Amino acid sequence: MNLFVGYACNLRCPYCFARALQPLYPRWIARDDFEKFLAWCIRVELYRLAFIGGEPTLHPRLAEMVERTAQAGAAVSIFTNGLGAPALMERLSGSATNFIVNCNPPELLSPRQRRRLHDNLVLLRAAGARVTFSKNFSPRYADYTYLLKSIVKYDVSFVRCDISRPDAFGSNDYAPPGTTARLLAAVAAFAEQCARLGVGLGIDCCLRMCETEPEQRTFMERFSAKFTGICAPSLDIHPDLSVSYCLPLHDLRIPDVTAFSGEEALRLHFAEAARPLRGRRAAEECRSCKEFMRRCQGGCMAQNREGDVLPGTHQHLRETLINAGKAKDIKIDSSPSLRYGSE
Ligand code: SF4
Ligand code: SF4
Repeated sequence: MNLFVGYACNLRCPYCFARALQPLYPRWIARDDFEKFLAWCIRVELYRLAFIGGEPTLHPRLAEMVERTAQAGAAVSIFTNGLGAPALMERLSGSATNFIVNCNPPELLSPRQRRRLHDNLVLLRAAGARVTFSKNFSPRYADYTYLLKSIVKYDVSFVRCDISRPDAFGSNDYAPPGTTARLLAAVAAFAEQCARLGVGLGIDCCLRMCETEPEQRTFMERFSAKFTGICAPSLDIHPDLSVSYCLPLHDLRIPDVTAFSGEEALRLHFAEAARPLRGRRAAEECRSCKEFMRRCQGGCMAQNREGDVLPGTHQHLRETLINAGKAKDIKIDSSPSLRYGSE
């Protein structure tokens, strides 16, 4: 499960699928909501939680939240762009079991940010923290040569990666259906390089099976920790404690995580709720494919949502506002420009 402590960030990565949600949620999870959530974690004996955003290290009480969650018995991971204040990173390294550092191409960082990232990676490794790199392959950012160098330089042993998925409104740099083959080829080539370096790889979400070459598929099935054609709910908790199947499939959502008896109950709920969507959102050619729902669901369900807006969701609200001529009430900023130096 992932707790999104807020959607504010000091970067503007073009492929980001979280930024579009900024206008829909409080800037940060409120103190009371975190207390309510932590009490729930203790009650249901949650054993693992990832803090994420936005950039979670910008949250003014992140260290306290991480420490209390770890004291409650959960293994804590932190998804970060690695640009947090060094003192904070050092403090977090005392409680978090894994830092998943999103490693951007150098051209997406200012010189000052590149130095900060380097300093923090050195600091975390010296503190004995586990560091995993994270990479999103998007149509504009599919190069990975810089990442191989960083893997060696910082002695990283595992990489989490994925092809970029559409944000809740399809406004980011992602590969639309039928155009992912080039990105999958890059992922497969990257996987081969990782195998040569003895570095493990996990691919987050499902891929369209027919868009990988058979030999690449066989290789990735053997090598990747989670290579699959059918996705499972990621359980993304928003700052107001509502939960989505995942961020891209934001329209499949329940209002309050604490109303459920635990992670398993949430998984069952979302697996059941997604079942009709898999058939409905699959392309025509997928429904007659012999692999359909055997090994492959036909790609990301968030990609094929045109005309399938679920009532009662933010997406539904936005469509309603657009239809009523009030879409300006929800501003979606997909500008790929970066905001430098706001450390
Ligand atoms: S269901 Fe079949 S046709 Fe559709 S993406 Fe998967 S393998 Fe390709
Ligand atoms: S709908 Fe499935 S494949 Fe798409 S982003 Fe969500 S979990 Fe991943």
